[in-house]
Amino acid sequence: PSFNKMNLNKELLKGIYSIGYEKPSLVQSKAIVPIISGKDIIIQQQSGTGKTATFTIAMLQVLYGLSTANIKKKTDGLQALVISPTRELAIQINGVIENLGTYLKVDSFCLTGLANNTGNDKVNNDKKIKLDLKKLGNADIVSGTPGKIVDCLKRNQISLDNLKMIILDEADELLDEHLGFKKQIYEIFSKINLKTQVVILSATMSSNILEVSKKIMNWDNHIKI
Ligand code: AMP
Repeated sequence: PSFNKMNLNKELLKGIYSIGYEKPSLVQSKAIVPIISGKDIIIQQQSGTGKTATFTIAMLQVLYGLSTANIKKKTDGLQALVISPTRELAIQINGVIENLGTYLKVDSFCLTGLANNTGNDKVNNDKKIKLDLKKLGNADIVSGTPGKIVDCLKRNQISLDNLKMIILDEADELLDEHLGFKKQIYEIFSKINLKTQVVILSATMSSNILEVSKKIMNWDNHIKI
């Protein structure tokens, strides 16, 4: 298997090779092309298998595959939203998006709450509380945690009207009955139009995941990997 055979944008391929990936991992060779095909998809996969780059490469191809590097992108609102259960993960995913998307001139924004509020770094925290709304407004992609995303939706700081793709990473955590994200996930999905492609990644395929997936995906026409 080879990234060259996936029909990817040249600038995206450049990003992949420049961070040192030589060939696709197993999940990458199985899932990237099907995601690009546009269908809703559930991927059962553990961390450490290359799953972040799987959805990132596919997402970047869907969003930018047909554009050329030198053409300044039009700004027609948020194109993709990646939701994950922790701040650390959201930051890490945002980094992968920026790295793989370097040559595509991707505008990605990391949207999470604060690390902690112990108070011993008050000044610093206050600074961080101030969201860079201009940068957020210009973002094509947001990687964030559920609470902060819902918060920004309520304040009309982001709009999901033109969203092409939504990705749930570590969905078993996001949809866990005890962690309290489930309601927020439904809230986010209530704002999304039917054309938005849904990609779900989960280490396990519990009945809970399947039940929720049936509600938020185009279930009659989905792929499982
Ligand atoms: P993840 O499953 O997303 O947590 O990724 C695990 C690790 O694999 C990360 O450190 C990635 O940088 C690395 N990785 C992902 N895809 C590839 C690839 N095709 N070749 C080499 N390393 C990779």
